[in-house]
Amino acid sequence: MGAADGPSSPGDTHQDGGEAQVLVVGAGPAGSAAALHLARAGVEVVLLEKSGFPRDKVCGDGLTPRGVHQLIRMGIDVNAPGWTRNRGMRWVCSGRQVEIDWPRLGSHPDFGLTRSRHDFDDLLAAHAVGAGARLHTGVRVTAPLTDRAGRITGVTGVAGPEKRPVRYRAPLVVAADGASARTAVLMGLERDPTRTVATAARRYYRSEARSQDPYLELWADLLCSRTGRDLPGYGWVFPLGDGRINVGLGAMPHRSRGAVDLRATMDQWLTRLPQDWGVGEETATCPLRSAALPMGFNRHPQYHRGLLLVGDSAGMVSPWSGEGIGQALEAAEAAAETIALALARPSGTGREHALRQYPAEINRRWGRYYRLGNLAGDLILGRYGYRPILHPRVMASPPLLRTLARLLTHVADEPPRDTVDALLHTLLRAVPRPRPLTRRTPPTRP
Ligand SMILES: Cc1cc2nc3c(=O)[nH]c(=O)nc-3n(C[C@H](O)[C@H](O)[C@H](O)COP(=O)(O)OP(=O)(O)OC[C@H]3O[C@@H](n4cnc5c(N)ncnc54)[C@H](O)[C@@H]3O)c2cc1C
Repeated sequence: MGAADGPSSPGDTHQDGGEAQVLVVGAGPAGSAAALHLARAGVEVVLLEKSGFPRDKVCGDGLTPRGVHQLIRMGIDVNAPGWTRNRGMRWVCSGRQVEIDWPRLGSHPDFGLTRSRHDFDDLLAAHAVGAGARLHTGVRVTAPLTDRAGRITGVTGVAGPEKRPVRYRAPLVVAADGASARTAVLMGLERDPTRTVATAARRYYRSEARSQDPYLELWADLLCSRTGRDLPGYGWVFPLGDGRINVGLGAMPHRSRGAVDLRATMDQWLTRLPQDWGVGEETATCPLRSAALPMGFNRHPQYHRGLLLVGDSAGMVSPWSGEGIGQALEAAEAAAETIALALARPSGTGREHALRQYPAEINRRWGRYYRLGNLAGDLILGRYGYRPILHPRVMASPPLLRTLARLLTHVADEPPRDTVDALLHTLLRAVPRPRPLTRRTPPTRP
C-alpha cells in the first residue's frame, strides 16, 4: 500500500524531488508518449525512469500501421535514418507461406516499421523532453504517496547509484512502469487472474540475407518442445535493416500443461530456418532474453484515486497479436487528453468525473475488440496457436487473408470504405461492449 503523505517529519530522510501537475512513472513508450502529449497540452509533467538512456528492452521491435500512426501523431519523423519500413506480414504455416501487404486505408499509413528498442525508447524520451517534460533518469519509484482518503499525492523513490531517498508530489500520477505494474499494485490494483499473461523471448542475430526483408515474418506452426503440441503463440523474424534480425517467439501458457519452455522451443524451431539465413550461435549478438506480455486488459480499473494506468501496467497488450507498443502510445495519448481536460476543472467532483472518462474512452476504442480477442485467446489461440486460423483454405484466399490481417492488427477505416472494413465493423458491433470497471473514488475537496 502507499505511504501516507504529510509534512516531512524530523526523521524523514526523503529529499524533495519536486512538484508537478502530473508525475509519469516509467519512460517506455507509454510513459514518454504520455509525457509528450501532456507537455504539449501545457501540463507541467515530470517523467521518472529507473534506468538511463539508451537502454535495452526485451521486445520484437516491430510496429504495425496503427503504431506508426501514433508515432506520426507524436511528431516523430519516420522518414529519418534509423527506421526500417515493412510492407506487410509474411505468414509461414504447414509448408506454405503468404505475403499480406498492409492495407491502403485513409486512416492509417500503409507501412509498418522496425527499430531496436535501444534506440526507439531513447528517441521517444528525447521527444518528450523536447516538448517540455522534465525527465529524471536513475530514479526508481518505490511507492505511491497517498492522503488519508487513499488518493495518490505523489511517489517516493530512490535516486542515483547511491540510492538517495526522494519524494515527488503531484495530484495526478500516470503509471507507465511496464509489466511489473508496481505503482498500480501498491495502490491495490491486482492483476485479473482470469486473464492470461503470455511470455515472449527474443535474440538478435547478424543476417545480411534477411536484414532488409520488406516483410515481418511470422511462423504459425511451431511445436512446444516439451509436449510436441501446437505452440499457443507464434515465432517471428523481424528485419532491423542494420545487418541484424530480431528472432523470437511468444506464447500463452498451455491451459493444463503450464508454461512453455521458450528456449527449447526456439532451439527446435531455429533448426527449421534455411541455412543461408545464417541464424546460429556464431551470428547471435546477445543472449536469449524473455519477459512477460500482460494482455487483454488484465489490470483494472484503469483509473483509480488519481492514478491512470497506461500500457503494460494495465495489461494493454493485444490478445490478438501480442503487440503492445502501439497500444501503449495510443492509450497514453487518451490519458493525456483526459488529464488536460480534467485539470481545466477545479479539483473535486467535476474533475473526478472527467478523469473517469479515461477508462470509458479506452473501452469505447478497444472494449469490443479486446473482448473478442480474449475469447479467441481462450478458445483457439491459447490452445492451438495460430495454425487453425491459417488453415490452407484461408491461406489460399486473398480476401480472407486481408480480413485476417486487419483483424489481427486492428486497422480499418471508420466509416467502412470497403467490404473488409464493413465485415470487421459488423463483427465487432455484434460483440457486447464490456462495462468499464471503476471503483468509487472520494473526490478531493476543492
Ligand atoms: C519478447 C517480447 C517481444 C515483443 N515484441 C513486440 C513487438 O514486436 N511489437 C509490439 O508492439 N510489442 C511487442 N512487445 C510488447 C511491448 O514490448 C510492450 O507492450 C511495450 O514495451 C509496453 O510499453 P510500456 O511503456 O507500457 O512498458 P515498458 O516498455 O516496459 O516501459 C516501462 C518503463 O518503466 C520503467 N520502470 C519500471 N519500473 C519502474 C520504477 N519502479 N520506477 C521508474 N521507472 C520504472 C522501465 O525501466 C521502463 O523504461 C513485446 C514484448 C516482449 C516481452
